[in-house]
Amino acid sequence: MSEGRTATVVGAGPNGLVAAITLARAGWDVTVFEANARAGGGTRTEELTLPGVLHDVCSAIHPLAVGSPAFRAIAESDLPLRDHGLEWIQSPVPLAHPLDGGRAAVLHRSVDETADGLGTDAKAYRRLFGPFVEAGFELTDGLLSPLSIPPRHPITLARYGAVGVLPAYTVGRRGFDTDEAQAMFGGLAGHSILSLKAPATAGYGLMLGVLAHLVGWPLARGGSQQIADALVAVLEKLGGRVECNRRIESLAELPAADAVLLDLTPRQVVAIAGDALPSRYRRALTRFRYGPGVFKLDWALDGPIPWANADCARAATVHLGGTLDEITASESDVQAGRHPQRPYVLLAQQSLFDPSRAPAGVQAVWAYCHVPNGSTLDMTDRIERQIERFAPGFRDRILARHAMNTEAVEAHDANYIGGDINGGVADLRQFVRRPTFGLHPWKTPIDGVYLCSSSTPPGGGVHGMCGWHAAREVMRESR
Ligand SMILES: Cc1cc2nc3c(=O)[nH]c(=O)nc-3n(C[C@H](O)[C@H](O)[C@H](O)COP(=O)(O)OP(=O)(O)OC[C@H]3O[C@@H](n4cnc5c(N)ncnc54)[C@H](O)[C@@H]3O)c2cc1C
Repeated sequence: MSEGRTATVVGAGPNGLVAAITLARAGWDVTVFEANARAGGGTRTEELTLPGVLHDVCSAIHPLAVGSPAFRAIAESDLPLRDHGLEWIQSPVPLAHPLDGGRAAVLHRSVDETADGLGTDAKAYRRLFGPFVEAGFELTDGLLSPLSIPPRHPITLARYGAVGVLPAYTVGRRGFDTDEAQAMFGGLAGHSILSLKAPATAGYGLMLGVLAHLVGWPLARGGSQQIADALVAVLEKLGGRVECNRRIESLAELPAADAVLLDLTPRQVVAIAGDALPSRYRRALTRFRYGPGVFKLDWALDGPIPWANADCARAATVHLGGTLDEITASESDVQAGRHPQRPYVLLAQQSLFDPSRAPAGVQAVWAYCHVPNGSTLDMTDRIERQIERFAPGFRDRILARHAMNTEAVEAHDANYIGGDINGGVADLRQFVRRPTFGLHPWKTPIDGVYLCSSSTPPGGGVHGMCGWHAAREVMRESR
């Protein structure tokens, strides 16, 4: 225990809150300063369209949270998040990926059921995903703790490396014959926000597919805000506190503490640390690359989306973008600084499975597509055309809509620089240099100051692992 030690966390995103809980559990006295009026960062929920309709402003679907060692440790502790209002909801199938002609690929919880739905690709699907799913959390735990020495589960990781380092396009094309299997794999890998022809994008497809089989792709009853609220409640039980409406402009504003953890990205760290950063480290942070942004839409509908393929109504998440070739073209456009005419769209229909999200007769729907960093182009028509393509009559159901371009996304959460939701490009180079190279990227050269945001390993997503690793680094150092 570390009685008497104090820590300050800047930013109450999932990583900041997990870092705070990890330290508070070890006896530290922790205060979190949050710029916004509510804690949560990328896990906030608001009535964006109509009164009583709850929309996830940022994250919606949470395989990473349920599967992450940090959240599992909290779930298994004497202060589980479920005791503080967090309840996970699973849709009957985690994911559907419609194609033209009323066809759809469906990802089921079971590897066999998924494979059986993929026709001639059944064997290839089983061969690719089966061994990783049988290994339980070995793969995902290894990837979420990428700097463990010696590596956790080296055999599973070596097997993963053989395929995961390849471009998703290559694995999709060479590994599968059917449009369905190829497109589904491309859609999974599209979460990387990289060109699907870039190295290691297959790894994203594998990881997210394996998680779908292991833990599903759940949503939080009542909205992702419930995750943040439950984390804050646990922190308070442990004696910590979150002070909202406290935007920190300079490290000098912070009260004296044994450790300061910044749930911020490099550009913000440079801004608030000022001259305190040694020039070499400052240069490294300045060179950190941000990736494409997102254009986000939320709708209130007067009924469920009229999918041409009925399986799409069984999945909380639906990937819209057509074939592997189409998704690859869309993501390549974005990488090249262009806005795709037919964007790859990630859609969630939470209220179908969580009636608490909207009044009776109303559906809340969430979607986004990738756009160049800093884009201000309105992608509403292009996104809605992709939905209409697979659900004719969708537009007739719209009661209200709310749109956010990259500027609005960054205004909602200052960590989303130019609309980049990953805290920086997550390509191979920036996976090992996040934001600096070495075994201790959470530590800065300023004594007692650490980074804990998704700009550190293992990167973007609501898993809390950046905060968890940073807090453990703090505790190691303080010993
Ligand atoms: C549209 C969208 C959809 C997404 N979908 C998913 C999804 O479905 N599943 C998933 O796992 N992930 C998703 N993500 C990504 C996920 O939200 C992020 O990766 C995650 O929230 C990162 O957590 P974090 O704690 O590092 O940072 P954040 O969650 O961004 O939190 C940073 C916090 O720091 C605060 N802050 C910033 N500057 C200051 C300052 N100067 N002083 C004080 N406080 C400050 C911010 O207000 C914020 O609360 C999505 C993101 C977006 C935007």
